[in-house]
Amino acid sequence: MSTNAPTIIIIEDEAQIRRFLRAALTAEGYQVFEAETAGQGLVEAAMRKPDLLILDLGLPDMDGVEVVKELRAWSSCPIIVLSARSLEGDKIAALDAGANDYLVKPFGTGELQARIRAALRNTSRPEGQGEAVFAIGELAVDMALRKVTVQGREVHLTPIEYRLLTVLARHAGKVLTHQFLLKEVWGASYIERAHYLRIYMGALRHKLEEDPAQPRYLLTEVGVGYRMANELS
Ligand code: CA
Repeated sequence: MSTNAPTIIIIEDEAQIRRFLRAALTAEGYQVFEAETAGQGLVEAAMRKPDLLILDLGLPDMDGVEVVKELRAWSSCPIIVLSARSLEGDKIAALDAGANDYLVKPFGTGELQARIRAALRNTSRPEGQGEAVFAIGELAVDMALRKVTVQGREVHLTPIEYRLLTVLARHAGKVLTHQFLLKEVWGASYIERAHYLRIYMGALRHKLEEDPAQPRYLLTEVGVGYRMANELS
C-alpha cells in the first residue's frame, strides 16, 4: 500500500458494518483504522490526523452529535456520519454541527465511494478561504467579480439568488441543511421558512441548469437540504 494513501478512521460499534467498510475502503486503496467507541475514535483521530472520518451516530458511549462538536473544536477533517432511519433528526443536527455528509443505513459501496470522493475533494478548498472562482461543468461563479456564467454567458441573478448560490458554492460537495441555508442567506429569524428556499432554488435551477427538473449542479438532499455538486455524475 502506498504511504500517501488517504487515511480513514471508522468509528462504528457494529462489527459487521466495520468489516463491510474496511473491505470496501481498502479495495479502493484507502488506509483504514477502526474504533468501536466514541472515546476510542476521538483518541485515534487526534493521534492519526486522518484525511476523513466515518462516524456512526448510534454509539454506546457518547451522543454522535456531541462527537461531531468535539471533533470540530480542533479538527477540520471531513466527517461522514452514518445514521439509522430512526436517527433522522440526529443526522440533521450532526450536519449543522459540522459534519460534511451522511449515509443512511443500509447503503451500497457505490454511494459510499461517491460520498468519500466528494468529501475528500472538499479538503482542498477549506471553508471561508475558498478560491475566488468556483466552476463545475458549464457553470462558473466568480466571487471576486460577483459574476455568474453558464457556457461563458453571463447570467443575471437577484441579490438573494446570488447569495444562496455562493453559500452553496463555498461549501461545494457538502450537504447544507435547510436551517443552515435559511440562516446564512436570510438570517436567524427565517429558519422556519423552508418555502423561501424551495422558491429560490427553483429560480436558480431555471437560470443555471440545462434541465431544471434534472439538476446536475444544485442537488436536493430529500428531507435534509441541498448540496452543490463538486463532481459530475
Ligand atoms: Ca451503532
